[in-house]
Amino acid sequence: MRCPACKNLMIVVEHEQIELDYCVNCSGVWFDAGELALLLETMQLEGTGISVDSVLTSPEAKSSEKKRRCPICGHKMKKATVGHEPEVLIDACPRGDGLWFDSGEVGQLITQLSDKPSEESDSQGRVITFLGEVFRV
Ligand SMILES: [Zn+2]
Ligand SMILES: [Zn+2]
Repeated sequence: MRCPACKNLMIVVEHEQIELDYCVNCSGVWFDAGELALLLETMQLEGTGISVDSVLTSPEAKSSEKKRRCPICGHKMKKATVGHEPEVLIDACPRGDGLWFDSGEVGQLITQLSDKPSEESDSQGRVITFLGEVFRV
């Protein structure tokens, strides 16, 4: 699969059934819809409202960033924000294939999510550690 930002070939990073497509050139990351759901489930963060569906039903974010094309279906992706303080600007496939995070954006989101008071579980800690390693949070 090609990176929607820089068109380099992406590599697959796998950890406990979760596969992410990662661009070593620009450090962006693609989450398939199913992978994102699995990740949030593993981290016990299903209730955070971050899902492909909720991103697609939220209003389009105003951004000067160029529109990117979905690496799966080639449609122009929608700009949307997730999280708070700061909001993280991401790209979402209008057909629900998945979400694109630019370099550092996953880290910002994970940092916000992992700050939330929640029953810390081993699996959550492991996924955060994994993401931290991959994305140098
Ligand atoms: Zn790239
Ligand atoms: Zn798509």
